[in-house]
Amino acid sequence: MNIILFGPPGAGKGTQSKMLIDKYGLTHLSTGDIFRYNIKHETELGLLAKKYMDEGNLVPDQVTIKMLESEVDKVPGSAGFIFDGFPRTQAQAEALDEFLASKGSQVHQMLALNVPEQELKTRLKERAISSGRNDDANPEVIQNRISVYQKETLPVKEYYDDKGKYKAIDGLGSMSQVFDRLCEAFDALLVTV
Ligand code: AMP
Repeated sequence: MNIILFGPPGAGKGTQSKMLIDKYGLTHLSTGDIFRYNIKHETELGLLAKKYMDEGNLVPDQVTIKMLESEVDKVPGSAGFIFDGFPRTQAQAEALDEFLASKGSQVHQMLALNVPEQELKTRLKERAISSGRNDDANPEVIQNRISVYQKETLPVKEYYDDKGKYKAIDGLGSMSQVFDRLCEAFDALLVTV
């Protein structure tokens, strides 16, 4: 079962993904985490990604798609993936669909965490204290990430909606309340897969 966990920065995708993989035995693939790992280890990919991430811009599609595909290929026996932070552009969505189709698989659903902008800003500010992430600490960068999300990433929602694969989830409330809503969606989907 392949799920895209979708939503703006600060919506809770990372936290919820970690809880979901424990319960459902899926593989968590966060493109942001993979980029941060590469930055920490000063790889060529990390050096390239850093300048985009520090400004809150997207890493170019070609680089991101290639990286994602190679990460999927590292886990050939996986029961399925939770894609967190990918796809973020229509080109990435098309590439993902094509890539999974070449393996006889598909995206089963996009679950989108809906959180109002003001709440996102509050959460990101709080997260900056514990995450040590450059891109969480600067209000201008946060604003740019939200703008990039609205301009470049939101259209991906329409892309999966047109395929009847989009489902919105209320992302407000406690971690466990949001988790329960996501589990309900996962359980409903598991019956059909
Ligand atoms: P995240 O951890 O998902 O908030 O991502 C942090 C940063 O990594 C983003 O602001 C982008 O600079 C970069 N990034 C993560 N995922 C992608 C993606 N799918 N496409 C392009 N850039 C990405």
